Amino acid sequence: MAKAKTHYEDCDILVVGGGMAGTGATFEARHWGRDLKIVCVEKANIDRSGAVAQGLYAINCYMGMQWDENQPEDHVRYARNDLMGLVREDLGYDMARHVDSAVHMFEEWGLPMMKDEKTGRYLREGKWQIMIHGESYKPIVAEAAKKSADKIYNRIMITHLLMDESKENRVGGAVGFNMRTGDYHVFRSKTVIVAAGGASHIFKPRAVGEGMGRTWYAPWSNGSAYALPIAVGAKMTQMENRIVLTRFKDGYGPVGAYFLHLKTYTQNANGENYEKKWYDQTKEIVGEYIDHHPVPTCLRNHAFIEETKAGGGPIYMVTTEAFQDPHLETVGWENFLGMTVGQAVVWASQNIDPKYTNPELTTSEPYVMGSHATCSGAWVSGPEDLSPPEYFWGYNRMLTVDGLFGAGDTVGGSAHKFSSGSFTEGRLAAKAAVKYIEDQKAENIKVTDKQCEDFKETIYKPLENYTVGRNEITGGTVSPSYILPIQGLQRLQKIMDEYVGGVGVNYMTNENLLKRGLELLDWLQEDLENVGAEDYHQLMRAWELKHRALTSQCVAEHTLFRKETRWPGYYYRGDHLKLDDENWHVLTVSRRDPKTGKFTMEKAPVYHIIDEEKKKVAS
Ligand SMILES: Cc1cc2nc3c(=O)[nH]c(=O)nc-3n(C[C@H](O)[C@H](O)[C@H](O)COP(=O)(O)OP(=O)(O)OC[C@H]3O[C@@H](n4cnc5c(N)ncnc54)[C@H](O)[C@@H]3O)c2cc1C
Repeated sequence: MAKAKTHYEDCDILVVGGGMAGTGATFEARHWGRDLKIVCVEKANIDRSGAVAQGLYAINCYMGMQWDENQPEDHVRYARNDLMGLVREDLGYDMARHVDSAVHMFEEWGLPMMKDEKTGRYLREGKWQIMIHGESYKPIVAEAAKKSADKIYNRIMITHLLMDESKENRVGGAVGFNMRTGDYHVFRSKTVIVAAGGASHIFKPRAVGEGMGRTWYAPWSNGSAYALPIAVGAKMTQMENRIVLTRFKDGYGPVGAYFLHLKTYTQNANGENYEKKWYDQTKEIVGEYIDHHPVPTCLRNHAFIEETKAGGGPIYMVTTEAFQDPHLETVGWENFLGMTVGQAVVWASQNIDPKYTNPELTTSEPYVMGSHATCSGAWVSGPEDLSPPEYFWGYNRMLTVDGLFGAGDTVGGSAHKFSSGSFTEGRLAAKAAVKYIEDQKAENIKVTDKQCEDFKETIYKPLENYTVGRNEITGGTVSPSYILPIQGLQRLQKIMDEYVGGVGVNYMTNENLLKRGLELLDWLQEDLENVGAEDYHQLMRAWELKHRALTSQCVAEHTLFRKETRWPGYYYRGDHLKLDDENWHVLTVSRRDPKTGKFTMEKAPVYHIIDEEKKKVAS
């Protein structure tokens, strides 16, 4: 579709994705780069985009250093424990030491914070969480980004990164298209900060048919954060560490405030505390990790999954006690109204009043993220003052491609950042990107018109496939020459579910399944050359699917590489059903060769910087 109009924009810092990390990056880039040209490109509209679109009820990462509630070291210990020992402690510490200042700015910008009337401190929901009236959280941070950027482009999906043609392995910008006008956009930029969120819908969701699209993670998060860097050969880490969430059934309403603030608890269908029933069995798999406090998220899932497999379901959240207190009842409902209104609607439709009926819980399909109780994402440089040599190559949060930075869900190894930590990481990445430009590392970047024109042809090919192929259809929608994005998506989800450890197989996989899954993913990739799109919206769906497919390949490769079950409750390697600290207390790192499409895998050491002075546990 060479007829699409082309727009060129030259800038210094290009932020891809205007969610929490992207708004943080855009804001901070202006602080350090007063004279730089800063552009943010967003697939939706930054006022209501990303995982925080509907609002939040709690900021899940706040140290409270001013009151000595927590110190960054405490947060590193917490994240390390929850991720069964494997995190990048340099990144976690760096985020934690800066996160409070970001939260204080949110308050200055007008975010209503709940406060303890006696102490004046932020009201805590848990050790790390503070409570907010957060319906307008996203518009508030978006305003800061809008005031900072030279230009915000909404409704443009970035599909590819541009590469410098004068120097190997250096980024040169990005390209995409406007989903409303169909115009083609070329952003030639000295640096790119990818902040495009996580990945849902790569595994088959529990909700199919009429409920399809109802997932815990934002359905529009399609793995661009991973696919964009993977496609240009950036290294990725811990991509096997997909996350499974225990949430209220069908609506995926949050449980954090229920557990932490309302002090509700779970039980099986017989009213038993099932978690302790699985203690010995879990200890067999993971050893002493089950004795850690708090119990790692994956291990709590594990007890849930085992109990359900053993016939103890449904698993209930006991709300009927807490909801007798009118204050707690209000908090329980408000928790949904500020964040997941749909859960209240589900309960209404199922005749559940939690004051009298304990609602069911479920475990979700897996998602890929870098900011929650999981740390999949790009392998980035850490900060100069903290990172050991293997973790440092010049600029904080720079990927293994020069000039390409990441933040939020994009960045691997640093779990438990949540909304505030992702925003903070965006700030850190932007500061480093400005320094990279000031150090003259981005001089003489060459991006030829040919590179841009080639991408243009590639991007619009699904429209061409459809226009040509539909002539062969005599009835219905099945074409001999193209597949539709929804058909490709369902095929992808089925492969990931059955071979890579989704809900359909109780999160179980093994080497043979993974090898077969990878074969099927390869063939899917071939067929995606023939995906057809009937309009610009479907063109977006086509590119979302392509990004999901590439992310999925990377997830499957990592899952195959790690020969142990490190996170039971997230997934199981049936052929290596135990945690193996002797061989696998390491981070996994992959690189896909952009020319051949083949992945290579390696182990990287885990340094326990906090408590154990830079001790190399294994390599
Ligand atoms: C259901 C749910 C509940 C949560 N609850 C809490 C909570 O209570 N407290 C808390 O602190 N945190 C919570 N979080 C976590 C928090 O929302 C995330 O950690 C945070 O939003 C991650 O920031 P991000 O910028 O990486 O991704 P996002 O905020 O999701 O932003 C990514 C942005 O990139 C855009 N984008 C994607 N692809 C492209 C592309 N190709 N081109 C252009 N733009 C693109 C998206 O539209 C989006 O705007 C929750 C998350 C979810 C999903």
